[in-house]
Amino acid sequence: MDIKSVLIDLDKTLWDFDKNSNETIEELFYKFEADKYCSFSDYIKKYREINNQLWEDYRNAKLEKDTLIWSRYYLSLKHFGLDNKELAQEMGQQYLKLSPTKTKLIPHSIEILEYLQKKYKIYLVTNGFTEVQYTKARNCKIEKYFDRIFTSEEVGYNKPHQLFFDFVLKNTNSTPENSIMIGDDINVDIIGAAEKGIKTIWCNFNNEAIDFKPDFEVKNLLDIKEIL
Ligand SMILES: [Mg+2]
Repeated sequence: MDIKSVLIDLDKTLWDFDKNSNETIEELFYKFEADKYCSFSDYIKKYREINNQLWEDYRNAKLEKDTLIWSRYYLSLKHFGLDNKELAQEMGQQYLKLSPTKTKLIPHSIEILEYLQKKYKIYLVTNGFTEVQYTKARNCKIEKYFDRIFTSEEVGYNKPHQLFFDFVLKNTNSTPENSIMIGDDINVDIIGAAEKGIKTIWCNFNNEAIDFKPDFEVKNLLDIKEIL
């Protein structure tokens, strides 16, 4: 392989979305004294259940995003006897502000970025709001590894849209043949890039079984050293 450009995803590939999200929810739980009503472990279980249900409703266009943001707190707290819409709205807003400032990374993120930086151009390619995604990269001190950051908000299209990848290739003077995409989401990162003819490394951290065959698959970020 004659690779020049490494495209890499942020959420759940480098930035540990689940840990950072949990940490934020826990912080808000105690800050708003919800511990007077239930234990955090009971609360987070209920929250996850409700959040998953609301996301499904959102994907099926049965719910607006703005409602999802606060109602996951409202319904979780209500379950434990705290019925307060204003409080839930405040928690929802604070979650959005606080969570991108969290700094838990997927194991070996820094090591693999240091390694790749010596050999390739690295481009962060991420779906999300520009301000939010930059905040994450900056707070985790990984911003310096990227030759450029591309957010879907800036590009105007989300991965896996082919125009997202077109934009990145064009603006980095790359071709599909000399580029490789690293990411955790099989549909968004891997199939999207593969359709463009870009080679792919799927970060299958949870040992999922799928039909699609990426060019490479790793269980751990360090395994990328054996490929690149
Ligand atoms: Mg991801």
